[in-house]
Amino acid sequence: MKIVRFIHKSKICEGILEGEDIVVPFEKKKIKAKDARLISPVAPSKIILVGLNYEDHAAELGMTRPKTPVLFIKPPTAVIGPGDDIIYPGYSQRVDYEAELAVVIKKTARSIKRDKAGEYILGYTCLNDVTARDIQTDDVQWTRSKSYDTFAPIGPWIETELDPGDIAVEAYLNGEKKQSSRTSELIFDIPHLLEFISGVMTLLPGDVISTGTPPGVGPMVPGDEITVKIEGIGELTNRVRK
Ligand code: MG
Repeated sequence: MKIVRFIHKSKICEGILEGEDIVVPFEKKKIKAKDARLISPVAPSKIILVGLNYEDHAAELGMTRPKTPVLFIKPPTAVIGPGDDIIYPGYSQRVDYEAELAVVIKKTARSIKRDKAGEYILGYTCLNDVTARDIQTDDVQWTRSKSYDTFAPIGPWIETELDPGDIAVEAYLNGEKKQSSRTSELIFDIPHLLEFISGVMTLLPGDVISTGTPPGVGPMVPGDEITVKIEGIGELTNRVRK
């Protein structure tokens, strides 16, 4: 099932995408998908991201595997949806894409065990962990470099039927493949991340956990088009502008 949020006749609605149609269960109606503008499929209270979580990306950077997941947070104000523009901050000279598989939380999760993780997952979507790389290098903390408005594109929908154990995660810049790996390369798998993160902070319905990026991160400039493509989910495309 593909859960979408969209704007239709100036109203924000939720529904299920079925081919060319969106079914809106609570209103018992069906509308044409082409008449709706998709927005982020989720409005999280927080987005928790994991740094350096692919074996092949750690090797590429010549860095050792972290002993525990490296966590940071993006604010919900950074979220944009499919087709929205990523705004290049005037302060930065280098803004990078990072294609990531994101997990959407289904129900309140506090100190859960890894074997129960599946009960707390609503589904999966694409996320672009947009990063002002020069600011990340300048600052000790990553908050500023990761938190500009528009730096968390999410979408296009939440796929509820997916086995995320070994799927392709890719980024395409202006149609050219730049990042490619498989989730089998994850250092800390999704059940491990849910146990670890929910032991730190309570996860609320709609919260998003982003699982880290494959090798091949690189810069974008205004005018570029960036696509995150994940096997079994779909494609999230955004443009960059000044
Ligand atoms: Mg990242």
